[in-house]
Amino acid sequence: MNFSLTEEQELIQQAARDFAQNDLFPEVIERDEAQRFPKEEVRKMGELGFLGMMVDPKYGGSGLDTLSYVLVMEELSKVDASSSVIVSVNNSLVCWGLETYGTEEQKEKYLTRLSTGEIIGAFCLSEPEAGSDATSQKTTAIDKGDHYVINGTKNWITNGSSAEVYLVIAQTDKDKKHKGINALIVEKGAEGFEIGPKENKLGIRGSDTHSLIFNDVKVPKKNRIGDDGFGFKFAMKTLAGGRIGIAAQALGIAAGAYELALKYSKERKAFGTEISNHQAIAFKLADMHTQIEAARHLVYKAAWDKDNGNDYDLSGAMAKLYASQVAMETTVEAVQIHGGNGFVKDYHVERLMRDAKITQIYEGTSEIQKIVISRSILKR
Ligand SMILES: Cc1cc2nc3c(=O)[nH]c(=O)nc-3n(C[C@H](O)[C@H](O)[C@H](O)COP(=O)(O)OP(=O)(O)OC[C@H]3O[C@@H](n4cnc5c(N)ncnc54)[C@H](O)[C@@H]3O)c2cc1C
Repeated sequence: MNFSLTEEQELIQQAARDFAQNDLFPEVIERDEAQRFPKEEVRKMGELGFLGMMVDPKYGGSGLDTLSYVLVMEELSKVDASSSVIVSVNNSLVCWGLETYGTEEQKEKYLTRLSTGEIIGAFCLSEPEAGSDATSQKTTAIDKGDHYVINGTKNWITNGSSAEVYLVIAQTDKDKKHKGINALIVEKGAEGFEIGPKENKLGIRGSDTHSLIFNDVKVPKKNRIGDDGFGFKFAMKTLAGGRIGIAAQALGIAAGAYELALKYSKERKAFGTEISNHQAIAFKLADMHTQIEAARHLVYKAAWDKDNGNDYDLSGAMAKLYASQVAMETTVEAVQIHGGNGFVKDYHVERLMRDAKITQIYEGTSEIQKIVISRSILKR
C-alpha cells in the first residue's frame, strides 16, 4: 500500500489551494448572498484545466487521474462549494459521459469546448416526480425518424442557465420501461427549450439551479449518446463516478470548517484561556479530525478504484454516504466552536453548514446510497 501522493498530484493540490484562497475566497460571501454565479472564476478554472481534468488532452482535457480531480474538488470545496459543484458536474457528469460513451463527432463538437471551459454543461435527469426514482421519467423523446421530439420538464438542474450543452434523459418507449430511455445532447437556444426561474436555495447559492422546460424540442438523432435505449444505463454509470466528486466536495466542506474551527479555538479566550484548552472543545476537534481522516480514506479509495479499473459502485456510494454525514456533523460542530460568531456570515462556518446539506441529497440521497451499498454487499 502507498498512502503518498505523487509529485504531480501535490502540485495540482497546491494549485487548487492557491486558486481557492486567491480567487474564490475574496467574494464568496457576496456571491452566496446575492446568489451570483461565479462566471469569472469559472473562466479561470477553465484556464487552469479544472473543467476537463480527466479528459484526454486530444479533446482539450488535462489527462489526469480521478485522484487529482478529487484533490481539486476537496480544495475548492473548503472555500466555495458553489464553485466546486460546477466543476463536479462538468467533469464527472458531462465530460466523462461524453468521452466514455459519445461518438467521435460528438466529442469533436462538444467535448473540446467543455473540457477547456469555453462552455459548461448540465446533466438533466431529475424531474418534478422523478428524483430518487429516476426510472419514472415523464419527459418524452419521441422517435421521428431522423430526429427526436422532446416534451417535458426537468427539475433542479445545476448550471441550468449557464450551460450551453445539456445532456437530457428522456423516455422514448414507455413499454420498454428503463430500457426505453435515451440520453440526448440539447444545445441552449434550441427552439421550444425554455429555462425556468432560478431556485432560491439554502446552500450552494452561487450555483444556478433551474427547472428546464421542453416544448416540442427537435434533436437530431446524431445527438443521441449510445445505442437506442442506453439512456438509463448512461445516467447510472455517469452518476456512479459523479458520487466520487460529490464525496470529495463533502470532504472539502468538512475539512474547511474544521480548519476554521481549529484556528478560532486557538485564538478565542474564555475563562482566562484559549477555548482549545477546554477539554469539551479539544474533544470536538479530535472527533472532527478523526472523522475527516476516515472520510478522506474512503473518498481517495473510491478514486483509486476508478483509476485502477476496479468496480467503484460500492466504494463510491460508501464514500458519498460517509463523507456527506461527516460534512453535516463537522460543520454543525464548527459553528458551535465559534459560538455567536459562528452564527454570523463573516466567519464562513454558517455557510459551510448550509452548503453541507446538499451533499446528502444530490446525485443520490443518503437513503439511496444505502440501497446501493446493501445491494452490493448482499449479492456477494
Ligand atoms: C441544489 C440541487 C442541485 C441538483 N442538481 C441536479 C442536476 O444537475 N441534475 C439532476 O438531474 N438532478 C439534480 N438535482 C436533483 C437531485 O438529484 C434530487 O433532488 C435527488 O436525487 C432526490 O430526489 P427528490 O428530490 O425527488 O427526492 P425524493 O426522491 O422524492 O425523495 C424524498 C425522500 O424520500 C427518500 N426516498 C426516496 N425513495 C426511497 C427509497 N426507495 N428508500 C428509502 N428512502 C427513499 C429520499 O432519500 C428522500 O429522503 C439537484 C437537486 C438540488 C437540490
